[in-house]
This record gives sequence, C-alpha cells and structure tokens, in this order.
Amino acid sequence: MDESSEKWIYLYIFVEFSGTIVLTLQSFSAKCHSLIKTSTQVAQAAPQLLVQTPEVSEMWHDISRINSWTIKDATEHYGIEKWGAGYFSINSTGDVVVTPSGADNGPSLSLHEVAKEIEARGLSMPVLLRIENILGSQIKLLHETFRKVILENNYRGVYKGVFPIKVNQQEQVIETISQLGKTFNHGLEAGSKSELIAAISMLQNRSACLICNGYKDEEFIDLGLYAVKMGFQVFFVVEVPGEVDLIIERSKVHNIKPAIGFRIKLSTQAEGKWNESGGDASVFGLTMSHTIDALDRLRAEGMLDCLQLLHYHIGSQIPNISDIRAGAMEACRLYEELVLEGAPMGYLDLGGGLAVDYDGSNTNSNSSRNYSMEEYCSDIVESIITVLDKNDIPHPTIITESGRAIVAYYSVLLFNILDISSFEPPPIPDKLPVVDNDLLENLMLTYNMVSTRNIQECCNDALFYRTQARQLFKHGGITLRERALAENLVQHTLMKISKISKELDHIPKDVQKINKLIYDIYYGNFSLFQSLPDVWAIDQILPVMPIHRLNEMPTRPAIISDITCDCDGKIDKFPDISQEKTSVMLHPLKDNEEYYLGVFLVGAYQETLGDLHNLFGDTNVVSIHVNDDGSYKFIRELEGDSVADVLTYVEYDIRAMKNRLKDLAEDAIDQGFISARERKSILAIFEEGLRGYTYFEKE
Ligand SMILES: *Cc1c(COP(=O)(O)O)cnc(C)c1O
Repeated sequence: MDESSEKWIYLYIFVEFSGTIVLTLQSFSAKCHSLIKTSTQVAQAAPQLLVQTPEVSEMWHDISRINSWTIKDATEHYGIEKWGAGYFSINSTGDVVVTPSGADNGPSLSLHEVAKEIEARGLSMPVLLRIENILGSQIKLLHETFRKVILENNYRGVYKGVFPIKVNQQEQVIETISQLGKTFNHGLEAGSKSELIAAISMLQNRSACLICNGYKDEEFIDLGLYAVKMGFQVFFVVEVPGEVDLIIERSKVHNIKPAIGFRIKLSTQAEGKWNESGGDASVFGLTMSHTIDALDRLRAEGMLDCLQLLHYHIGSQIPNISDIRAGAMEACRLYEELVLEGAPMGYLDLGGGLAVDYDGSNTNSNSSRNYSMEEYCSDIVESIITVLDKNDIPHPTIITESGRAIVAYYSVLLFNILDISSFEPPPIPDKLPVVDNDLLENLMLTYNMVSTRNIQECCNDALFYRTQARQLFKHGGITLRERALAENLVQHTLMKISKISKELDHIPKDVQKINKLIYDIYYGNFSLFQSLPDVWAIDQILPVMPIHRLNEMPTRPAIISDITCDCDGKIDKFPDISQEKTSVMLHPLKDNEEYYLGVFLVGAYQETLGDLHNLFGDTNVVSIHVNDDGSYKFIRELEGDSVADVLTYVEYDIRAMKNRLKDLAEDAIDQGFISARERKSILAIFEEGLRGYTYFEKE
C-alpha cells in the first residue's frame, strides 16, 4: 500500500440482496456522511458494483493516447457533429459551443461560459437553457426547404406550417414561435380547449393557420368560431364522427361558415414508438364510412363548401422515410376522392412525424431518422404531385404540424456532478492474509493468469470463486474483511479481463457482459423524471456529454444517476452509431472545480410530461439570445420551484405545517429535549428549507 492510500480509512458495508448479489462499498474519511446517502443509491442502481476510490487509475488507457487526444477526437467520440445539426460543436479550448444560426459561420458561444454566468447571477444548477435563436433557425429551415422543393418541382401550391402546442406549451416557447414565425406565417395547432385559449391569445398573425384538433365540446367550438369572427384562419378538424353535428349546429347559431377538416384514419402505419397514432389501431380519426357519413351530413346541410382540409397524423418521430411517403400517397388518394365528391378542399395537413436524429446514426432506428429535412419535404411534394396530377386535381396548400423537429434543438439541460462512485477496488495488498482455505490464493492465481489465450476460463473461475466467497461468508467460513478482499480480487480480475479483451478480434459473450458492467456512477444534480421523462418512459436516447474539458481525454466509462431515490433514475443508454452503448466516457472530477454535463435536444415533450417524483420540482429556466457579434443577452429567467411550491402542489398547507412544527418544538421544550434558542434555530432552518430550490444547492 502506498502512502496516499494509507490515508484512507476503509469502511466496508455489505448489503445482501436475495442472498446472492452483494454490494460492497468501500469508503473513506470525511465523506462518510455522503457515503451513507449514496450507498443506497448505488445499491439500487447497480447492485453488482463494487467500491469507491478517489484516485484515478490509468490502467484503462495508455498515457500516450491521453497525451495525443485532440478536439477532433472529442468531436468524433461524442458524435456531436452527427446529432448537433450544425448547432453544437467543440471549440479549440475544449468547450461545447452553440452556433444558433446552424452550420453557416454565424456567432457562437461557449455553453460552459453561459453556465458560469448563470451561476454568477445566483441561479443554481440544474438549469434548462433555451437558446432562442435556434427556434427561429429551425422554423426558417423548414419553410425555406419546403419553398425550395416546391420551386424545383413546379408545385402549384404553397407551404404553411403550424406548431402543435402540446409539444411544448410553455408560454415563452409559444410566444417565441409566434414572434419568430411571423415572417413565415407559421401558425399554431391546438388539441384542447386550454391550448386553443393559449393559441388565440398568442397568435397575432391573421395570415397564419390555427388548426383545432382534439375532442371538441360546445365551448371549444364557440371559442374557435369567435376566433374566426376576429379574422383568424381557423380550421375545425373533425376527429370523431359525432363532432360534425356539433360544428354544424354551433356555426348556425353564430351564423358563421367555418372551415372544416376531416382527420382520417389511414391504413398506413409508421415504424417507431408512436406507430399506433396511425393504422387500424389508431384511436383518432374517421374511418372510411365515418368519412362518407360526415360528408353527406355536410352536403345535406348545404355546408359541403366548408370542407377544405384533409388531416392525418401517423405518429411522432417517424424514423423511416418510406412511411412518410406511403402516408402522403394514401392521404392524397382520399383528398382526390373528396374533391371528386364536390368539396372545395385546398389544404392537406400531414400532421407531425418529422423526426429528430437524437443518436446521430441517420438510420431508421427509433431515436433517429433515415432522411434529411430536404428529403422529407421532397418526398411529400413529389407524392402529392404523383397522385393528384393523374386527374389534374389542383395542388393543395401543404400544412405540416412539426413539433419535435422545431423545438428539440433549442433546449439543453445543464447540471453539475455531485459525486462519483468508482468501479475500481482498492489496490491488491502486497501480502495476502493467512486463512484456513485456499480461496484467496486461488483468486490471486486467477488474477495473475489472465491472458488473451485463457480469457473465458479466467472469467469462469473468477465468477466461480466469487460465488464461493459469498457462500463461505454466509456460513461463517470467512470474515467480513476476507470476503471484501475476495470481492476486490474478483473485481481486479474482471477489470484485467476487460482490458485484455480489447486486444481480441472476437470478444466472448460473457466477457462482453463484464465490459458492460465496468463503469463509474456519476451522480448528476437533476431528476430524470422531472427533466427527461422520455428517457425513463420510452427509452428515448438523448445525447449527453461534458460541456467543457473536451481537450482532455475522458478516461472513465460512466453511467449517470440522478438524485431521486429511484433505481430507474439513471441514464445508461447513449447515442452510438454502430451498437447500443451502455456507458459514456467522462472525466475524473477535479478538486474545487465543478464538472458540468449537458443533455441535448430536450426541447420537445420533456417539460410538461415531467413529474414531481421525490418532489423534485421544475428546474430553473434561462433563455438567451445570441447577437450577431457573438455577445448574448439573458432574455428571461424563470426560477424553478421552491420546496414550498412542490409541497403545495401535493396539497400541503404550508402555514399549517409551520404551526405544527412550532407546536412540536414547543412540546420538545416542555419535555426538556431542546432549549428555546434551539427552537428558534429549528424554525429558521425549516423556513429557509421551504424557500429553497428542490435540487442540491451549494453552501
Ligand atoms: C403530437 C402531434 C403532432 C406533433 O408531432 P411531432 O412528431 O412532434 O412533430 C402533430 N399533430 C398531431 C395531431 C399530434 O397529435
């Protein structure tokens, strides 16, 4: 043992799970307190894992590789150019920079600098950072791409986009979209009464469309009809058969001719996680016979001229372009039929589905897409032309309801790392203790024997001896210290196997499994359930990486745990081009320096779907606008929930809580447990706690 490791006091905590899986946590001097806290989390996150060491071992990498690490290596390693869509890259000093105008050489900004600036203003991590200009850039990209494709194909119609409010309902998001989308007449899509009210109050542009989807009651329809009266371009999309009668009735009451759309259930079903939005399993939309009924109802009321739009939505995040094409072709046939029935039509609304390449693989995997924005637009335009030109049906105005693709890029979740629990056991002692069985000796022998030629055998042996150690311990055959040493020797052996296996062309399956278990746990100051619910709910893969120190080679394979007490609160799947990746390389922590990570592409769906698991509330939100000269403005900051806020959400009465505590403390004085002065301190800290942020705050 060298001097530095002698400094550490080793404390072993064993927790036995169902008799077989054992957690050994080894730790150290002053941090016992935080150890107790993290030990349960380690147990939940990865019960097989061992120990905690503060030192960084270099055994994983040659020093020469560490020294020759470049920014280019970092760029390739994290795939930032693949998923970053031109908005994110790494600068020469190793910071992640954002270029809000996209790939062209516009101004860029270091996210690390922004994080530090945010903290200097007194806002703690985690922070959801919104880079406003990116929203403008995405809207512009969508419109310009459609415009270009329309021109190239001599399409005789225009494109009009709407933003579906459900994808991110936050007031500042909808306001920014209305503002930045104005030049393109970008409208809004509402799927409920609340969303319609939000849309009417936000949309200032009468040339933009306002699409009313969702189940509609009388009030919903009346609201929409008033919007028509005020000059807005409102479309009432009939989602269920009964709705058409109510729309007819209310428009007669108000004496307004509404623009009506039919949402049709296509037989086309898309791949991906949301494929039940389309096809026979879809709960939304009119079937073919519903469509005919609704059409006949309108005709009978003399309102066939109101039918102007056909709508469909076959799912969000459609990874495969062929599904987009198939959906458009099928919809165009229906569109054509409605025209032939005598409806004026004029608008084809293709819904959402334009996917985001979260993992940068450019494939039809669920977290990616096998097409570009340009291919998406061309395929739609070409499909319409192909079908409608056969019978000379006039080309409709194309509407899409892209949500995800518009907002995903513009938010980044920033958080700091609070602690690490390392996979590395303490060093092997020079001399093994004398025991009356040969377990430790056998383990040592196995450790020394590992080579490329006998990897599988050593792997089997190590696991066999581990089981033996656990059995022996159970029956009183070895002590706590002996068992800890045995587990450490196993871990050393597995690590050696893992390292040596990298020289092999073919890695045996068992060894592959071991490789996946060798990682540190980095504890991040955030709640997965609040900020990244899709990672938990639907295994969404999101890019995660350090936002600084990228000029240093990251040497630690890691998974990221959040600070909820839930074993599901972790990120353990990461973008990778070729295979599933179960860890991400991170840097060892430095003394007195925060380590910041960013989770990227989180602007769509995550905010409102997030919940209060463990009562972690909304994070702080900061919006910035990057100026042409590279300077930037803090546009807005929204303070996250305080502890009192989240308690109120779950119906606690704060005043009553305080009164109860006062009584309790008074009683404690009466019983002689505390002094009057201590009562004052207790009440003060309670008060302060209620005002505080729900996440880990620095002193
Ligand atoms: C959810 C939804 C959208 C948004 O889909 P994205 O894939 O996020 O673009 C659009 N239209 C309707 C009807 C939806 O339900």
